[in-house]
Amino acid sequence: MIKLHDLYFKPFISEQEIDTAVQKMVDSIADDLGDEVPVFVGILNGSFMLVSDFVKKYPKPCEVTFIKLASYEGVKSTEDIQRLIGLTQDLTGRTVVILEDIIDSGKTLEEVHRIFENENVKQLLIATLFYKPEAYDKDFKLHYVGMEIPNKFIVGYGLDYDGLGRDLPDVYQLKTTQHMTNLVLFGPPGAGKGTQANYLKEKYDLIHISTGDVFRFNIKNETALGMLAKSYMDKGELVPDQVTIEMLNKEVEKNAGANGFIFDGFPRTNGQAKALDKLMDSKDSQINAMVALEVDDNVLVKRLLERGKTSGRADDADEKIIRNRIKEYYNKTAILKDYYAAQDKYFGVDGVGSIEDITERLSAVIDKL
Ligand code: 5GP
Ligand code: MG
Repeated sequence: MIKLHDLYFKPFISEQEIDTAVQKMVDSIADDLGDEVPVFVGILNGSFMLVSDFVKKYPKPCEVTFIKLASYEGVKSTEDIQRLIGLTQDLTGRTVVILEDIIDSGKTLEEVHRIFENENVKQLLIATLFYKPEAYDKDFKLHYVGMEIPNKFIVGYGLDYDGLGRDLPDVYQLKTTQHMTNLVLFGPPGAGKGTQANYLKEKYDLIHISTGDVFRFNIKNETALGMLAKSYMDKGELVPDQVTIEMLNKEVEKNAGANGFIFDGFPRTNGQAKALDKLMDSKDSQINAMVALEVDDNVLVKRLLERGKTSGRADDADEKIIRNRIKEYYNKTAILKDYYAAQDKYFGVDGVGSIEDITERLSAVIDKL
């Protein structure tokens, strides 16, 4: 991932793939033109790198020139095309091949056609390395296309974001969700997970997604997913991961502009951890860390028995039940600890001490992410 000005971009097309696409364009154009000496016209600024690589590969004599147009502001195509440097030579009777880095809305191309309208060239061929079919709303024929790409803003290989990125040999795509901090929070019963989640949420402006709460919300409000989940529960079956993931997806989408999420109660299995990775990846994001509160069993038992005196929760009143719940927690989370540790994303945090002390320790981990 790279950062240009205020935005994050992720690797999209490698130097090698670009090279292959350029070579392919060269081959078909050289094939079609035979012994004709073409004039390649690059559209500055973006096409400088393409033109350079292209003509070095071109197997026969050719001429090269440039015109300079500007249509982009920041990450958006604008209506206004400015002609900064026009044609400086007579191209009457010549075969002209426009070399564009990218064709987006086609407005620049329209201006190019206007420029050549009265030039009496033999033929005007359009070649573009990148083409965004979803954005293109003109009728001009594109004779040679290196690669079709989705309608997302890219940088690199001549293309810039506010001046930066033209020098990059690879192409990067704008991340749709910007830099988020996403945590998976773990802790045995009685570790103070809920309390800490509340503090972290405030401190880092994160959205706390408790799977239990999400389930209850969907079922109570009889959403389609809630009804689906309930149909499994009513049969005494486990709700399939896909249903849970879809519910989490909805929560993530509801908060698309968030600084990040704290996942609580999910994942519980390797399969779920992978599904969560996939979900975050589809949002151009990632799980940054699994943070687990570590508390000695005897301390947990003492805390929970204490809580049982006032909470009235039956499962907080019996030491044997409590010890079983703790054991079950470790049995279940061991796999996940391994899963995240393998990616260097596991962080155990000492959960014994005052609430403030523990928050401090958690913050120290998060601040380093
Ligand atoms: P169009 O006029 O077809 O909308 O856009 C063409 C020009 O806009 C290109 O020559 C390029 O300068 C700029 N452009 C279009 N799409 C992108 C993009 O994804 N990234 C960058 N950096 N520039 C783009
Ligand atoms: Mg351009």
